[in-house]
Parts: sequence; C-alpha cells; structure tokens
Amino acid sequence: MRQIGEKLLIASHNAGKVREIGALLAPFGVQVVSAADLGLDEPDETEESFAGNARIKAHAAARASGLPALSDDSGIEVDALGGAPGIRTADWAETPDGRDFPMAMTKVWTLLEDAAAPEPRSARFRCTLCLAWPDGQDALFEGKVEGRIVWPMRGARGFGFDPIFLPDGETETFGEMDPARKHELSHRADAFRKLVAAVFGG
Ligand code: IMP
Repeated sequence: MRQIGEKLLIASHNAGKVREIGALLAPFGVQVVSAADLGLDEPDETEESFAGNARIKAHAAARASGLPALSDDSGIEVDALGGAPGIRTADWAETPDGRDFPMAMTKVWTLLEDAAAPEPRSARFRCTLCLAWPDGQDALFEGKVEGRIVWPMRGARGFGFDPIFLPDGETETFGEMDPARKHELSHRADAFRKLVAAVFGG
C-alpha cells in the first residue's frame, strides 16, 4: 500500500465526519485539512453504492487539491424498511433550509410504526472509506456496526442519526455515549482499522 505523507485531505463538508476522522487519525501524526477548509466543491453523488459515491468524492478532492484525499460515504440501513435510507441517508434530512436530522429520525420512526415493525428494529450503520491519490490510484475500506432503532431520540453527542441508534450489547445510543466509546465501536472505526492496517501497518 502506498503511503499518504504528512498531509491528508478529508474529502467531506460534514463537520461531524471531519471531527471523527481527525480523532481517528490523530495517533498517526497526519495533518488533516478538510474540503470545506480549501473551499472545494462538493461533487454530486450519482452512484448507487457507498463505494461508488466514496470514490467520486475522494477522486474529485485529490484531483482538485493535488493531495491524497480520504472520503467517507456512510449511512444507516433499517431492515424493516428494506435497507432504507441506506445511501440516501443524508437526503432524508434535506430541507430547503439545510439538513434537519430530528425530522429525518421522526420519518424513520413513523414508517416503522406505520408498518407495525416488530422489535427489535434491527439496523446497521455502514461506512466505506476511499483513499485516493492525485494520480488516480485508490483503495477502499468497508466497516459496519449492528444495532437497532430506539425511540425517543436519546443524547446530544455525535451527529446525524446517532440519537436513535443503539449498538448491540450497549445501553447508550451513539448520541449518548462518550465519543471515545463510539470510536471503538462505530462503522467508521471498523473501516478505519482496516485502513490503518493497510497504510500504517498497525
Ligand atoms: P453521506 O455524506 O452521503 O455519506 O451521508 C451520510 C449520512 O449518514 C450522514 O449525513 C449522517 O446522517 C449519516 N451518518 C453517517 N455516519 C453516521 C454516524 O456515525 N452517526 C450518525 N449518522 C451518521
């Protein structure tokens, strides 16, 4: 696996993701800058898979900046909703005034109630990381965490759908738990372990 040097571009405008990726990379002495810091455009995510969209974002950022770029495409799959929202997770929160996650979480819950979905309402977060170099090479790393949807929303930590996701074997939602615990358990951490093994040999 090729090295990433001292500076890595995080190909995301999502502050929650950039914060978590920065924390996960902190032990490796890599300086991170975000696509938002550099004023890069957000490309359209036109693929139908996490991997396809992760590749679009990482390659666009690497080309535009001349730096190795790391993207994260992620989302939550709810089994009783046929895997929705899945790759459309961010879209479910879109409003004309920006993203509204309480609204999106309420939509998930309402659909589950309307379908009288049995408990536990199993779900998983998935994350695909794409590391792309300016010359067009790339590598993909996939992670997931199993759990279930709970209601009402619990906790103001984390971001996105964290307040309604209870990981298997835990008593706190991702929205309630200490970020250090989320970094041990999460889909992003799972994908990161694979990236770290490949890139840093650890
Ligand atoms: P993307 O930018 O298309 O990858 O959007 C992924 C969406 O999935 C985010 O906007 C969040 O709503 C959701 N998501 C991904 N990872 C997490 C997480 O760790 N916690 C909560 N929500 C997440």
